[in-house]
Amino acid sequence: MTEGLMDKIVSLAKRRGFLFPGSEIYGGVGSTYDYGPLGVLLKNNVRRAWWEAIVQRRADVVGLDAAIIMNPKTWEASGHLQGFTDPLVDCKGCKKRFRADHLVEAHIAGMPGLKEDQISIKDLKCPECGGELTDIREFNLMFKTSIGPLEDAASTVYLRPETAQGIFVNFGNVLQTSRRKLPFGIAQVGKSFRNEITPGNFIFRTREFEQMEMEFFVKPGTDEEWFETWKQFMLDWFVELGVKSDKLRFYEHPKEKLSHYSKRTVDLEYEYPWGWGELWGCANRTDFDLKQHSKFSGQDLSYRDQETNEKYFPYVIEPALGLDRSVLTFLLDAYEEIDGGRTTTTESAKETETVLRFHPAIAPIKAAVLPLSKKAPLTELAEGIRKTLSKRFMVQYDETGSVGRRYRRQDEIGTPYCITVDFDTPEDGKVTVRDRDTMAQERVAIDELSDLIGERCAL
Ligand SMILES: [Zn+2]
Repeated sequence: MTEGLMDKIVSLAKRRGFLFPGSEIYGGVGSTYDYGPLGVLLKNNVRRAWWEAIVQRRADVVGLDAAIIMNPKTWEASGHLQGFTDPLVDCKGCKKRFRADHLVEAHIAGMPGLKEDQISIKDLKCPECGGELTDIREFNLMFKTSIGPLEDAASTVYLRPETAQGIFVNFGNVLQTSRRKLPFGIAQVGKSFRNEITPGNFIFRTREFEQMEMEFFVKPGTDEEWFETWKQFMLDWFVELGVKSDKLRFYEHPKEKLSHYSKRTVDLEYEYPWGWGELWGCANRTDFDLKQHSKFSGQDLSYRDQETNEKYFPYVIEPALGLDRSVLTFLLDAYEEIDGGRTTTTESAKETETVLRFHPAIAPIKAAVLPLSKKAPLTELAEGIRKTLSKRFMVQYDETGSVGRRYRRQDEIGTPYCITVDFDTPEDGKVTVRDRDTMAQERVAIDELSDLIGERCAL
């Protein structure tokens, strides 16, 4: 089923309003995507689930929402102005651009026994047209813009390439105002921007994306233990939200390939249709960032332990997750096709059925209300149920087509519960609740519906 799975997800996402190509009527722009009516709900739910697990349920993490545009000195201090680059080559023939490291990787993948350091980009040709390649240039991935009415060097600012720096520069503010002691974390969700040379795989790698990052500040010496704790947390979070554990694994970055600030980096990887890929990275950023910002700003961002009176720069453990990438992962993992269908009503029999088996907590729509007739009193009862439930959940009302058809429309978007209002409902005040995964049906009193769905859709 993995064959063509990406195409199926992209097509379902478009057809049912999860994701549209950005600026589509103008032919799109640079691999951007817009979240449609169902996509925005799914994305909000994933964001909320993360926030709940990492901020709301923990006594040792607080939240933050920093500005996207930061003083450009931030990026000097963080090393991004200097070092946040990818090696770029151009084809002299067709003018296409490539990442040199990707070309080298692709080349050695086809030549068993060959090592990366045994070949140089000069030995390679353009994979598109066979043309000659230019020398490698370092290409900075930060988007540049200017602030204020004058466009000069003094007004140059950057769209942040990671949300983390907004947390580091506010370390002192949070420390003072929230009366925190180590260890504690600051969490943030927000947009980041990277001018990737080769974005791709739908919303896996885009130039504009949303990050869910947390910087956990610890006493040096306890960093390795905390690293293990957060690494485990990452795996548990996805498994609890229903992602298949045999599709998840850890990848340890080799020491020689670590980022300039990192002592250790481990990725939680997911097995995507094109292979294993990074889902959630955990990095031990040491005291690099707080020290750098202290140096560049002249403000002391060290920490004083009130019991021992020791003064030091905390170490930082950073679990950094992409929200868009998470949405893609949940979509792929939840997708299931059932040949011949599960229901046997005549008109829908023998078709392939699609079910998105989302965990109810992240499902865009929690319940659909389906009256068996288009007339009162069933429609009025159904509308009343919709109205009551919508105070707590996203619900849909659907009265068109056979019930089988309506179930399938909801299965395809991952709605965990369908509520049928039938001809007995006016008599007994009960409805039939049908479960998306087991297709089991139970009779439930109307005034118990809200609590039942609330309980089952909780995390
Ligand atoms: Zn070429």
